[in-house]
Amino acid sequence: MLFSELPLANPLQRAVRAVGYKKPTPIQERSIPSLLEGRDLLGIAQTGTGKTAAFALPILQRLLDSGKFRAPKTCRALVLLPTRELAIQVEDCFKQYAQFTAISTACIFGGVSDASQKRNLVRGVDVLVATPGRLLDLIGQKAVSLKALEFFVLDEADRMLDMGFIHDIRKVVALLPPVRQNLFFSATMPDDITKLAATILRPDPVRVEVAPQSTPIERIRQELYRIDKRRKGALLKELLLAHPEMTKVLVFSRTKHGADKITRVLEKAGVKCAAIHGNKSQNRRQEALGNFKNEKIRVLVATDIAARGIDVDDVSHVFNYDLPDVPETFVHRIGRTARAGKDGIAISFCAPDEEQDLRAIEKLTRIRIPEGDKAIYEKLPPPQKETAESEMRNARGRMNRGEAQARAEKSREKKPACGLTPKKDERRAEQKHTDPRLREGDVRPENGMPRHKHRRNRPGSRARKRMRENGGYSTTL
Ligand code: AMP
Repeated sequence: MLFSELPLANPLQRAVRAVGYKKPTPIQERSIPSLLEGRDLLGIAQTGTGKTAAFALPILQRLLDSGKFRAPKTCRALVLLPTRELAIQVEDCFKQYAQFTAISTACIFGGVSDASQKRNLVRGVDVLVATPGRLLDLIGQKAVSLKALEFFVLDEADRMLDMGFIHDIRKVVALLPPVRQNLFFSATMPDDITKLAATILRPDPVRVEVAPQSTPIERIRQELYRIDKRRKGALLKELLLAHPEMTKVLVFSRTKHGADKITRVLEKAGVKCAAIHGNKSQNRRQEALGNFKNEKIRVLVATDIAARGIDVDDVSHVFNYDLPDVPETFVHRIGRTARAGKDGIAISFCAPDEEQDLRAIEKLTRIRIPEGDKAIYEKLPPPQKETAESEMRNARGRMNRGEAQARAEKSREKKPACGLTPKKDERRAEQKHTDPRLREGDVRPENGMPRHKHRRNRPGSRARKRMRENGGYSTTL
């Protein structure tokens, strides 16, 4: 089937041609005709299958057909998504597909000021893409109402539930008018998602299931480097410097700290890069992602959670700097390359203590990953000696929180000032009495610095309490 065979209006056909789509993907082929008839849809599909166009194109067509107009502070179609990144991505798609029409779009999400978002809603919008929290917030402020809604899309439902949005979703659904067309998408359908779908969809929805993108894995060229974890940074740097064809590189790190460390190594080597993970502000994450998409930076370093659902075209190489504990995660990671019929290369680093993870991955994918060019090892500097502190940090990356706490406690018993000699400890203990900024008890046990130097460390602060509970770690792993 070709797009031209679908009953889509000229402006939409033009937009599809402009974005370069020729044939509908399976989910598009199976969803678009039923959605154009006004049926509800239950879509079991992941990002990467073309599901956004599968719902956006028929919604746009029906908005064009209905002949209604948007009223102030209302929207006609609402798409709910769990994260800001996904919301922006989906709104971008709507904008592209609606570029030759007068249909308006807006995107609202938390973590930023709501002033401009409210301004965009004053005259009403046709398509509103939103995250649940900010939507409810703006509904509460009477900046937008759902009373004129015609189309409701709940996307990434399983992630919504994972992220604890169930109550917000229920609140939003309670505000929807009874007559509407509903589209519900989820990558998986456990019981709680099936129940949620039943509360939203009309009886007998069209069910479209698209197998997760596991087939392309054969198309991805893979390489494995067995390497000591202390030399991974040098190996990554060496490979990037030796291969200029690695133009759009996604590097996966197991921990947030690890991601920052990798960017420091690469920046030092003059490689343009940025990291995205949960400790970065929304703005920084968005900026990093934008720069990566526009190829202003060559390497994006991400943790699995930060990278979930992020859709970047033409990733040339995926690096598994650390192997994931869950083998399925490996498949998701490397599926970021070799998209839409293109080739892609996935390079995995395996430290001796990751051999078990490697075996699980090879078993799941039924592929034995071939080893890369061994000559590269010769170019690497000898490994640096690991400090007690970095050893602890690395270990934390592989442990659950309980183990990490136990280990931190044990380590503190052995050497009270992690990595410091007793002499330095004594000096710091003395400083405690001379530093005018200190109050009684205001000494950070690890390094003797005043605890309240930062606001989060002031006595009685929640962060400080959490730190005490976490055995000295300011963030969870
Ligand atoms: P999605 O699953 O909606 O996140 O889409 C994944 C990627 O596939 C996006 O980059 C889309 O632009 C692209 N895409 C969607 N539909 C098609 C199509 N029919 N032909 C080629 N690429 C497509």
